[in-house]
Amino acid sequence: MGRRALIAGAGIGGLAAALALARQGFRVDVFERAPALQELGAGLQLTPNATRALRELGALEAIGALATEPGALRVLRGADGGELAHLPIGDAERRWGAPYLAIHRADLQRTLAEAATAAGANLHLATEIVGVDDAANEASLTLRRDGVESRERGDLLIGADGLHSPTRALSGLGEAEAPRFSGKLAFRATVAAERVAPRARANEITLRLGASAHLVHYPLRAGSLVNLVAAIEASWRDPPDSEAPDDPWDAEGDRPALDRAFADWSGDARALIAAPTQWRAWPLYTRPPLPRFARGRVALIGDAAHPMTPFLAQGAAQAIEDAEALARRLGEHKDIERALSAYSDNRIERAARIQREALAQGRLFHLDGPLAVARDLSIAALGPEGVLRRLGWLYAA
Ligand SMILES: Cc1cc2nc3c(=O)[nH]c(=O)nc-3n(C[C@H](O)[C@H](O)[C@H](O)COP(=O)(O)OP(=O)(O)OC[C@H]3O[C@@H](n4cnc5c(N)ncnc54)[C@H](O)[C@@H]3O)c2cc1C
Repeated sequence: MGRRALIAGAGIGGLAAALALARQGFRVDVFERAPALQELGAGLQLTPNATRALRELGALEAIGALATEPGALRVLRGADGGELAHLPIGDAERRWGAPYLAIHRADLQRTLAEAATAAGANLHLATEIVGVDDAANEASLTLRRDGVESRERGDLLIGADGLHSPTRALSGLGEAEAPRFSGKLAFRATVAAERVAPRARANEITLRLGASAHLVHYPLRAGSLVNLVAAIEASWRDPPDSEAPDDPWDAEGDRPALDRAFADWSGDARALIAAPTQWRAWPLYTRPPLPRFARGRVALIGDAAHPMTPFLAQGAAQAIEDAEALARRLGEHKDIERALSAYSDNRIERAARIQREALAQGRLFHLDGPLAVARDLSIAALGPEGVLRRLGWLYAA
């Protein structure tokens, strides 16, 4: 009988790991507390480092069929819509060895779930992890389903259970302290394409920069939807439903704050802010980098290991890279603890760098006054090729 992997969480990371390990011949069980795979989260950019890992997992073709492939990344000034940069990314395959895609999170999650189950993984919904044990020759989980507790044993445990990861807390890998609020709140929405101006439907990613706020938009689902992300500076408040701290909240009550943050922006930008019938809000959190992602037979991946602000579009990308790297190490080393430790050594530096650079990118996006002018001048001085070259460490890795 093959070795058995237990996976906590069926987000993008957990499902990518399920697929990767099932392809390696592991018996895989994924435990997810939600009763169904939810339509949460709207659009995701899949940068070339993510699509390269998906190709390695044999999933890129199915995912590519549901994704858009933007031709350019346009950077605009929020106040007047003036163009700061027009970066060609439609040739990402030539430039970085893999395509640059955009996809609805629900489509990505469903496709990964289908690929993982087709490869032999078992998905257990409505099953909450409440305990973790890492003994000498096994890893085990205590689960709660319909109020009844049970125990599962495996050869290893992968904690892919997100920002508030119980695996991280219960396995002694995490710090006791809570995640830190970054000072930024992201509002997300999707709108039917016919509700926005034709330019906002173009097959491009548009990034608009202003003082203390930015707005990103791009088409999804063959151009039928437009995905919007508006990030603003905010003071922290508890999500209305504190029972579900991972979930976004319905942001209708915050709409005045959103309108105020974009009040001085161009008419195009304000029309985009006004277009959705519903916004949802995510407070953005970080944690200091961990010294290691694995201990004994337990390894962390994705947001459980290295939560990051979304300003480099890397949270899901890094979860997918982690899954692919972990399966690769397990293929290389028969000894599980050795494989998990090699995975940790291999990933820690890159993840910490991306966490840091994502925070710095958020600060750069929200500059005001002379500092914003200096930023815009340096983008112009670099030129499109210079800006794209600077992304090589991230996308070509
Ligand atoms: C505004 C915004 C924009 C973003 N844009 C991008 C982008 O363009 N590109 C990109 O790559 N990333 C982006 N991200 C980041 C990305 O969405 C996340 O980093 C990524 O989804 C994390 O995946 P994960 O699998 O690690 O965690 P999650 O998606 O959080 O999954 C964790 C899973 O574990 C489950 N779970 C938790 N606790 C338990 C328990 N006790 N028992 C059982 N199950 C449990 C949860 O229900 C959940 O399903 C963005 C994020 C935000 C907020």
